[in-house]
Amino acid sequence: MIRRLLSEQSTLRTAGSFNVSTSERPIVVVGAGSTGASAAYHLSKMGQKVALIDRGQPASGMTSRSTALVRNHYSNEIVARMAYYSLQALKNFGEIGNSGFVNNGMLFLGNSVSKQALDSVLPILARVGVRTERLESQEAAKRFPELNISDDEFVHYEPDSGYADPVATANSYASKARELGTEILGGLELSGLSYDLSGKLDAVELVGGRRIHCSKAVLCTNVWTNKLLVQSDITEELPIWAAAHPVVILRRPKQYEGLKPSVADFPSKTYYKPEGNSLFFAGSLDPEFDSRKVEPESLPVEVPFEFLDFLSEVISQRIPAMREGIVHSSYIGMYDMTPDQHPIIDELSQIGLPSAFCCVGLSGHGFKLCPALGLMTAEMVCGIDDPTFDWNRFSLSRFKTGDLFSSRIASVNTIA
Ligand SMILES: Cc1cc2nc3c(=O)[nH]c(=O)nc-3n(C[C@H](O)[C@H](O)[C@H](O)COP(=O)(O)OP(=O)(O)OC[C@H]3O[C@@H](n4cnc5c(N)ncnc54)[C@H](O)[C@@H]3O)c2cc1C
Repeated sequence: MIRRLLSEQSTLRTAGSFNVSTSERPIVVVGAGSTGASAAYHLSKMGQKVALIDRGQPASGMTSRSTALVRNHYSNEIVARMAYYSLQALKNFGEIGNSGFVNNGMLFLGNSVSKQALDSVLPILARVGVRTERLESQEAAKRFPELNISDDEFVHYEPDSGYADPVATANSYASKARELGTEILGGLELSGLSYDLSGKLDAVELVGGRRIHCSKAVLCTNVWTNKLLVQSDITEELPIWAAAHPVVILRRPKQYEGLKPSVADFPSKTYYKPEGNSLFFAGSLDPEFDSRKVEPESLPVEVPFEFLDFLSEVISQRIPAMREGIVHSSYIGMYDMTPDQHPIIDELSQIGLPSAFCCVGLSGHGFKLCPALGLMTAEMVCGIDDPTFDWNRFSLSRFKTGDLFSSRIASVNTIA
């Protein structure tokens, strides 16, 4: 699939020869990660003329660094509904392509400190229709004997959760959008938006001086959004920053191979995901990581040894069999954080850019939501009266009015 898209891309037209019929200017979606590719697919499905552009290829941004956990455990009902919808979509992806969804289940492991907060999520999940089992420590230890679960701990078990392949998902959306008429243009970097004298959006401008005339622009540009916006005469930047998140990949020993559940380990503020037969991805849920801002262009490449050491210790305590695991590799990715850890899905007229829309600030949990986010973005851009999910809840203005999302589980990040 990826190879097919790439080889097709090599024959793609460049912006200079991008031949948009003058009668109908396209909606230009910028950023072909899981968000932009899904938005382009949903817009094309609604009959819109779309161009999806990226300075690289589909999924070359943070989508390719995602650990891609797909779960429903959210403490805000609208987000739990979006996650539930998205999980069904990724699981039944057939018509669109291959999402690589694997149903390994997920455990949310808490203790007396997080008990009240975690348990308060259960009625929300029940209303949404998410299957969740609450297991006391003894029952949890019986069901998951490879995990060390102490007496004051308990588990919420989501049997229908899993993980997916984010690169395959974004490429599938892009490929299907192409089938529906979307132009996919790789290797084009947007430098700004230009407006005519009447204040109407005229074109997206590209590095090198070319432009694509358009009716609307949709930014799905993750941590790079503000860099792009400051070149477009905005009145203020979006409240988004880049936070570095290391991921360590281990190779599992024979005795811990096969299909095993993922774990959000609240006491240690870590998460881990056994992938395939023998890999094991692990990262942090510590909000400390979110508050440390980094420059996207100067992201550190080395995962600090102390982090690796800390994770090894936590994992070997929790899963004694993993003491025999070996480090496979590690990398650092970036989350596009907002102050309340939830996306901004809005038109940007309020910062001086009418007809420009965005779906950004996904705060490290946007992959699993990509089916819903793409649908919501498309419905917003098309001005659908009765949207599937109320995208207004994700407006930019909430950071001014104070109507922020509040997480019940404030001590860990991304499990908002
Ligand atoms: C380490 C890590 C672990 C994660 N784990 C999970 C998880 O377990 N579950 C989950 O749900 N989410 C997870 N996420 C988050 C998730 O990966 C992202 O929210 C999701 O993939 C959304 O990506 P995106 O499409 O918004 O951004 P990206 O994939 O970054 O796409 C943005 C695109 O915009 C392009 N672009 C930027 N600027 C320009 C420009 N000026 N011109 C042209 N193109 C431009 C880039 O090239 C890029 O391809 C994780 C993220 C990281 C980093």
